[in-house]
Amino acid sequence: MSIYADIAVDAPVGSERTFSYSVPVGMDVAEGHFVLVPFGPRLLHGVVFEITDFSPVSNTRNISQVLVTKTVLSPVALRIARWMSEHYLCTLFQAASVMFPVGLHRGNISWISVKNLNSEVPFSSLEQKIFDYVSERSRVNMNDLLSNFGKKSRNSIMRLINIGILDKTELHRESLVKPLYRSSPRLTQLGEKFVSSSPQVRAYKQMELLEAMKKGQAPETLAKARRMFGYSVVRSLLDKGLIESVDMVVDRDPLSTSIYDLKGFSQLTPAQAEVSGTVASMLKASKSNPRALLLHGVTGSGKTEVYVEAVKQCIGNEKKAIVLVPEIALTPQTVERFASRFIGQVAVLHSGLSDGERRDQWWKIRDGNYSVVIGTRSAIFAPQPDLGLVIIDEEHEWTYKNTEGVPKYHARDVAMQLAGITRAVVVLGSATPDVETYIRAKRGRYRLSTLPNRYLTSGILDPRSQSGLARTTLIDMRDELKKGNKDIFSRTLFSELKDTLEKGEQAILFVNRRGASSFMQCRSCGYVPRCNSCDVSLTCHTDGMKTMCHYCGRATRLLSSCSLCSDTNLGRYGIGTQLVEDRVKILFPEYKSVRWDRDSAKTYKEYKDILSRFRFGEYQVMVGTQVVAKGHDMPKVTLVGVVSADVGLNLPEFRASERVFQLICQVSGRAGRGARPGQVIIQTYQPEHYAIKAASSQNYEAFFDEEIAYRRTFKHPPYSRIIKLMRQDTNVNNCEDEAKRLFKSLQRQRDIWGLSDIDIIGPTPSFPSRVRGHYRWHILLRGPDPRKLLETIGMKEVANDALGGRRVSKGWVVDVDPVTFG
Ligand code: ADP
Ligand code: ZN
Repeated sequence: MSIYADIAVDAPVGSERTFSYSVPVGMDVAEGHFVLVPFGPRLLHGVVFEITDFSPVSNTRNISQVLVTKTVLSPVALRIARWMSEHYLCTLFQAASVMFPVGLHRGNISWISVKNLNSEVPFSSLEQKIFDYVSERSRVNMNDLLSNFGKKSRNSIMRLINIGILDKTELHRESLVKPLYRSSPRLTQLGEKFVSSSPQVRAYKQMELLEAMKKGQAPETLAKARRMFGYSVVRSLLDKGLIESVDMVVDRDPLSTSIYDLKGFSQLTPAQAEVSGTVASMLKASKSNPRALLLHGVTGSGKTEVYVEAVKQCIGNEKKAIVLVPEIALTPQTVERFASRFIGQVAVLHSGLSDGERRDQWWKIRDGNYSVVIGTRSAIFAPQPDLGLVIIDEEHEWTYKNTEGVPKYHARDVAMQLAGITRAVVVLGSATPDVETYIRAKRGRYRLSTLPNRYLTSGILDPRSQSGLARTTLIDMRDELKKGNKDIFSRTLFSELKDTLEKGEQAILFVNRRGASSFMQCRSCGYVPRCNSCDVSLTCHTDGMKTMCHYCGRATRLLSSCSLCSDTNLGRYGIGTQLVEDRVKILFPEYKSVRWDRDSAKTYKEYKDILSRFRFGEYQVMVGTQVVAKGHDMPKVTLVGVVSADVGLNLPEFRASERVFQLICQVSGRAGRGARPGQVIIQTYQPEHYAIKAASSQNYEAFFDEEIAYRRTFKHPPYSRIIKLMRQDTNVNNCEDEAKRLFKSLQRQRDIWGLSDIDIIGPTPSFPSRVRGHYRWHILLRGPDPRKLLETIGMKEVANDALGGRRVSKGWVVDVDPVTFG
């Protein structure tokens, strides 16, 4: 009986379908294997989705090679891939590839060699040159050939192949990320006998090494043995056959150099214990629904303690867990809190690790070595067997949505699918839940638990605030102006900052924008300098006197005069982190401040460094963008100043208010986390805006009620679903024309199929309308199920890579459930 395999191949065809191949006799292939298969004239990578004894087509070709002998994707992962391919409209292979271990998939390499030296066929002069070039070498990489003779030489090369002069072979490119081997010393049987006989020898160094090895204290590597005992000692032991060199795999473990003291589990407060009880019962009753719980707890209420307890329960049920944090900067503190409770059972996965570390962690997780995996967005695909629990901390964060690459998945949505397949429990935690999550919890799709009060070490609540949260003051900056204060600091913020610093306490100043000011404008003609390749105004940076585009990152020299009218009277508007830091340095020269944003801390190391130095007290003031708002624990901070709360409020996004509300609440949550009470001062020009008002009283319900009413009125999610179709083109006319063409075609389809409940919004230029020299237009499809409309345009148009074979038209990118419109 023949055996067949359904395989998803790495080609932009067929969207969510697989292709049928036969399994050659004797080849060991299973579901989830990574293979090489012939596809037309090429060899392609593929993932085996199913092994069957039936093929729908009569002439199946053989699988060429199994590339990795272990299964790469589990049955659960294969089901997730199928779901992602359908939901996010990408090919099955694209969906599968986000779950691969790092470096697995590198494409093929084509080698060209001479097949027939004695041909009579006449060559053109280019063909002759190519032929000579190849025949001088045994084989030549196709790409080298093309770069040597130019792209146009491809036709000539192909002709030489077709008439049998040259030969082309495709080879799988080996993964660059390989296991790391080291040579280690080992006692031979001879050596074993020799030491046991306690011989009297003069070579005491050699004896010393042998004895250490007998006691199991051998240096891990030969190199280390040579360093400790001397080159000649190791050499002569090897020569005498008393020791031998064996290749051992070295585990690149990101936590190997960290030492965690075993910490006991906290005595939970009654409120925390109640939540834990709910989670425990959900973990036990795997058949019961719902499988998800929203933990709505104010900042510092001990959500993390509840997560730790949940993981403990999960391990008690002999299951494993995944814990997601919104960004790399937050992993060290979360890892610390878990690793000190579950010693040796914690794995870490994020892009701040080296490729080698990621590779080794991935395979060790896959082999069941860790009870908990902690990581950022893509760690939702950690190959954790026996999954029992997924925790998503700060579930409202946009970083859980993959905005670059394909598929544009949301880790929270993937987690819900995982829960459906594996019956794992999902715990979503936040002080400011996404309104779409909150309404699901209110409607009973998720369970809802709340922790309304902060955990206070002192046990005493600050009498000024019921929940133990910091006291908040809202400052109307229009009043400040009226009273003649033009500074970026209101009188209240200035005097409180002074007070805080004099008491030796710490302050955070939050500005949601990097740089010195957001834009420059000529005071006489009104000209605003913009980036040449992205249609956005340039941001001033004071260090090095430059301007920078915050989309493409290109820096230019600061203009001294207007490029339009040559006037030197250039004004700077808007407030950025640099401006605030400079102002602090002028007003409080005796105190040290630090700036934390994407310009000042680019790497994981820099993050950790700034944070630990601030926690240690080296700086009194931290000026930062949203990175400081995230859940960092900074116990000495007693004052948080939101320098301008309005930034972002007026962006053309339906989530703009929600975003501002979340940011202010989160950054306010940094104040007063230690023994001393904290306070928050919010400066705004729109004190009557509901998001600002609700944020200043940390009143989530009040915000939610207004926000959900607004969403209902304007049919925004959760009252609709959105699919964004994006187009980029270097030619402005082509971009606009194609956007209009697709728009018309969508309208026609909607009428034909009677899909009147789907709105087609646009086409409009995106914001910014040009990035890195590419013009951008988009169309939004909105309705209860906008996918239906895309399905109707099926076959007529051209398939495309980014669309994963969904036939909209070449050059379009699909984003299902986008987080931004722009
Ligand atoms: P959240 O995750 O909600 O922001 P955390 O879990 O970080 O809150 O808790 C805030 C602080 O209170 C932490 O320092 C934590 O160790 C402490 N804490 C919370 N609950 C307890 C508890 N039951 N026992 C001891 N300390 C606790
Ligand atoms: Zn730019």
